[in-house]
Amino acid sequence: MRLRLPGWTPGSYLMRDYVRHLEELTVEQQGRLLPCRRLEPACWLVEPDPQAGELLIRYRVMATELSVRTCHLDGDHGFLALAAVVLEVEGERWAEHRLSCSLPPRWQAFVPLPQQSDGSWIATTFDELVDSPVELGPHREHGFAVGGVAHRWVTWGGAAGAGDWLLQHFPSLLDDVAQVCHACCRLMAVEAPPCNGYLFVLHLLDEGYGGLEHNHSTVLVYGRRALEKPNGYRKFLQLVAHEYLHQWNVRRLRPAELCPIDYHQPPVVPSLWFAEGITSYVDQLLPLSAGLSTPDQLLEDLGEDLSRFLLTPGRSVQSLAASSEEAWVKLYRADAYAADSQVSYYLKGAVVALCLDLHLRRHGTALAPVLQRLWLELGQWQRGYTEQALIAAFTASAPDLEGLLPSWLHQVDDPDLHGYLQEVGLLLQPIVATIPWAGFTCRPEASGLTAQRVWRGGPAETAGLMVGDEVLAIDGQRVRQSDQIGPLLRTDAAQELLISRRSELRSLPLRCAAPRVERYQLTRDPQASRQALERQRRWLRLWEAPW
Ligand SMILES: [Zn+2]
Repeated sequence: MRLRLPGWTPGSYLMRDYVRHLEELTVEQQGRLLPCRRLEPACWLVEPDPQAGELLIRYRVMATELSVRTCHLDGDHGFLALAAVVLEVEGERWAEHRLSCSLPPRWQAFVPLPQQSDGSWIATTFDELVDSPVELGPHREHGFAVGGVAHRWVTWGGAAGAGDWLLQHFPSLLDDVAQVCHACCRLMAVEAPPCNGYLFVLHLLDEGYGGLEHNHSTVLVYGRRALEKPNGYRKFLQLVAHEYLHQWNVRRLRPAELCPIDYHQPPVVPSLWFAEGITSYVDQLLPLSAGLSTPDQLLEDLGEDLSRFLLTPGRSVQSLAASSEEAWVKLYRADAYAADSQVSYYLKGAVVALCLDLHLRRHGTALAPVLQRLWLELGQWQRGYTEQALIAAFTASAPDLEGLLPSWLHQVDDPDLHGYLQEVGLLLQPIVATIPWAGFTCRPEASGLTAQRVWRGGPAETAGLMVGDEVLAIDGQRVRQSDQIGPLLRTDAAQELLISRRSELRSLPLRCAAPRVERYQLTRDPQASRQALERQRRWLRLWEAPW
């Protein structure tokens, strides 16, 4: 019999080698220790006597990493990402699993599984167990219903009372979250979510941002300081919308490559752009549809994303499908060169989702009906989709997408973003920087400034600057802070860039280029026609008939 620990958690596409936290594995049968032979770092072979009854498998797991996909335990709380904890017993993947917890006094376990009268929880399969995050602590639970389905909300935030702080500062939080959940249901054209019950776990930290989706729950991380900023609460509701919508898109309406999930080998998934891009696009529209943000705020948020996309040079290097397929080795391992060599499938996926939505509207339909149809045909049965199935679903509503969509996915040419935006009365206005373009940014360190990013093909790279170089002076002027660089740059002559590399001083000839676009702003077109404004009004209401 083989015992294996998963290597990754679905939703977070990086091999995490959870086994590095596992210690002291023993297997016992009738009080006798059995030999365990390690076949792989995370796989053991044991040979029990089939007649001798139960096996007792013991091990310890270090819980020192605080994230939505790792385990953490301190005096205030515990969090278990079960992929990092539970061994898969060969042959038992589809069998029922029972979970029990022994806890300190006054602590409770918050688990998105049905609880039995003896306090244990039942998962119908190993996958359901792995899909159940476990939050532990003396936290208070709040509840609300969506379409008759019970929803629970639990906040942990370091010292006691984070949940109380949250509800004191944002007294409408639970109502607003419920409205966002309703908006998701409405987007999917269903009365109630597909779960039997839903658990929100929020880790409210000083700083941090993220979430991980599950079938019956989500774990969110958000910064208390970010929440206090003017846009913070709106962005928080977008995160809620994003993770909640994932119970449809990606959890149940799932790429075929993740049916079933291989916990030990990273599967190549070309359609992560659909899972994350579509979700990222609508997560901004959902709070708006729920009446919790304004059209101007949507334009601000969408404009930020479009600007980030247009200023990512890597989009002309890596296609959207390649970005999805390479998630394991690129997006989740982004480094100082990432912006020049890759494009996020979240970001470009959201841009393509916007273009798809606006393109479908030319054909009298929209993104929402396509999502709803995919849900009815595949998602609700948890039948996986292939890229061909997605293209066919879009092409059924707009035949010209048959050629267009594959080119958006597999080529590096941009969709006609400006054209689509113009149709709904919007303009992307370039804002040009006031200083010449040198093609590098610096990060302050104790010793001085270090080159943090060097644009591929830009002036600094041409001059010979590399990431990690210490930037000392420009034309003999010592620079110690990033904002001292800009005023020294000029375009009319070569300049001396003095750097230190591996403790050797070097003089580089820097020739700056003219100032470049530093961001784009999404604005209303003052020349927009009445028809364009009407299209804009309908586009901003996700589920209003597009025609
Ligand atoms: Zn997501």
